[in-house]
Amino acid sequence: MKRIDWAKLDAAGRRDALARPKQRSEANVVDAVRAIFDDVEARGGAAVTEWAIKLDGFAPRRIAITEAVVAEARDALPPADTRALRVAAENVRVFHQATVPEDSKSVETTPGVSSKIVWRPISSAGLYAPGGSAPLFSSLLMLAIPAGVAGVETRVAVTPPRKDGSAHPAIILAAAEAGLDAIWLIGGAQAIAAMTYGVTLDDGEIPACDKLFGPGNAYVAEAKRYAASLPDGPSQDMPAGPSELLVIADDRANPTLVAADLLSQAEHDADAQVVLVSDSTQRIDDIVEEVEKLLEDLPRAHIARASLVEARAIKVRDLDEAVAVSNLYGPEHLALHVEDADRLVPKIRAAGAVFVGQWAAETLGDYAAGPSHVLPTDGGARTLGGITTSSFMTSMSVQTVTAAGAMQLAPVAARLARLEGLEAHALAAEFRAEIQRVR
Ligand code: NAD
Repeated sequence: MKRIDWAKLDAAGRRDALARPKQRSEANVVDAVRAIFDDVEARGGAAVTEWAIKLDGFAPRRIAITEAVVAEARDALPPADTRALRVAAENVRVFHQATVPEDSKSVETTPGVSSKIVWRPISSAGLYAPGGSAPLFSSLLMLAIPAGVAGVETRVAVTPPRKDGSAHPAIILAAAEAGLDAIWLIGGAQAIAAMTYGVTLDDGEIPACDKLFGPGNAYVAEAKRYAASLPDGPSQDMPAGPSELLVIADDRANPTLVAADLLSQAEHDADAQVVLVSDSTQRIDDIVEEVEKLLEDLPRAHIARASLVEARAIKVRDLDEAVAVSNLYGPEHLALHVEDADRLVPKIRAAGAVFVGQWAAETLGDYAAGPSHVLPTDGGARTLGGITTSSFMTSMSVQTVTAAGAMQLAPVAARLARLEGLEAHALAAEFRAEIQRVR
């Protein structure tokens, strides 16, 4: 971890200290994704199949979530795993059902002129569950369940195949828990391109989707960004790239818990970034030492070590300064390992998810607390929230005007329209008033 003394840095130094690490071979990623999209746009399903075979070894496959397929997946897992998955799915469902945005009350701004905001589900959603280095069935739950609760009619779910071309049984069970009727085994930019253009494959059709969702590696993140930049292309949820965690720890923080939290993100991806901010040099030393100890027994230590090269341990003056650092960075995950952690929450302005106090392990939120773990990275949290049911919906205003309301507001609107030089606008307002005068 890079040790940083915040007090010794000027403004530019502070910006540099919080800069995201440059993703490995960023330019190559952009070029690779562009090549895949251009090919899929030109040749459709054939191109998708070829890229899938080239990059992941298998042609795209559609797995129908039938009773038989689900039973086979259930048999392949210990019953305790199946139960844990069910608890997680239930918590995610309960949380999202309780937080569906509600239509606003009607607001009368002028007598007879009333408006309200109403919410509607989008028609189709492309859901990407990562699977390159670990089968993230949890991401499938965190996307497909809120999409279902929101009422999205067409949910297209994709995930990369395993090394042997199959789906992890937990992916099948997660799809079943979310009520999906199928899952496509295809990953990477080729999956995103398929859901962007809509393609016909040997196993059926992947339709073009209105909006693309989900985390993923640099290729997936770039593919979603590119898809959203296309005219008539789908929109995307957010930049959800390599994971990030910022921990604020005070001098009473438990070094083992903090170290475990830091490593839980570092083990995701060599490009993942973890940041420790503390007002205690001694605590930073203890935590760094504990990280080294825990690393010895981690199966994914090689990935975590690569990620830790870009990790930061920042010494600050006090906890207010720690919060200021966090707000500047805008982490995907923020863990508060401090006494009375609740009191810091009102000061936090930018984080995808906040974990309050030492008991709130990020891992609980990653799997089973209820809110979606699909969250903005790369500082996106400064302006964007994570996935909620509203991510799968659009809002619109509905404006209702009575004759009396039109009579009263038309002169105001007509005046302003003429001020902007828009005569037809003015007439459209005035005709309403005139019709009533001649009646
Ligand atoms: P992934 O599914 O995102 O990527 C695997 C795909 O990448 C493969 O299917 C392959 O086609 C493609 N690919 C790999 N190398 C390529 C190359 N050289 N050229 C073109 N395509 C290539 O799985 P992953 O790699 O394990 O990454 C998962 C990521 O998701 C991690 O970075 C993790 O931190 C992140 N994540 C983020 C969140 C969030 O909410 N932000 C949540 C969970 C996971």
